Amino acid sequence: MYLSCLDLEGVLVPEVWLCVAERTGIDALRVTTRDIPDYDQLMRHRISIINENGLGLAEIQEIIGGMTPLPGAVEFLNWLRERSQVFILSDTFYQFATPLMRQLQWPTLFCNYLLIDDHGRIEGYRLRQDDQKRQAVKALRQLEFKIIAAGDSYNDTSMLKEADRGILFCPPDHVAEQFPQFPVTSDYAQLRAAFIDAAAALAAGA
Ligand SMILES: [Mg+2]
Repeated sequence: MYLSCLDLEGVLVPEVWLCVAERTGIDALRVTTRDIPDYDQLMRHRISIINENGLGLAEIQEIIGGMTPLPGAVEFLNWLRERSQVFILSDTFYQFATPLMRQLQWPTLFCNYLLIDDHGRIEGYRLRQDDQKRQAVKALRQLEFKIIAAGDSYNDTSMLKEADRGILFCPPDHVAEQFPQFPVTSDYAQLRAAFIDAAAALAAGA
């Protein structure tokens, strides 16, 4: 028996902030952790840009409501949920994720909260805890579950290390190079195969 932990953006759905940048035409929202590695600084930048442009939560939610999961994501998730219980561990926010969770048929999601004022303006955010993806895996392992985790980027690597087995899905080259211990998959067929291999290795006690 194992539990599966999956990152959301880049694994099951496109990057939310990039989609918002494209739909609004606001290039300043294209910055990612690659441009501003400090997450708090990056989020403050994003929140100030959306406020400067008069975008509130409702406008952002409308854009996200037009997004769809990556092609094949729903089928992959259903396949995995027949084999193990699945937790989505994401650095996104509950207020953003709802339309996407509906399309994914409401898997369990652990993520963060936006702080919204009385006028629907995004005034900040709150992380439940530092390194929450890794902390979730650690907590589940303390309940005597084996964990297979998959993610696409640098912010997933502490979760992958904490898991019994970690898998990279379509990672940037520098992440794959820096973490050669994790198998790299580049489509859902490969990801399924990597889960099957990891589950077999856990069943064999490896
Ligand atoms: Mg990701």
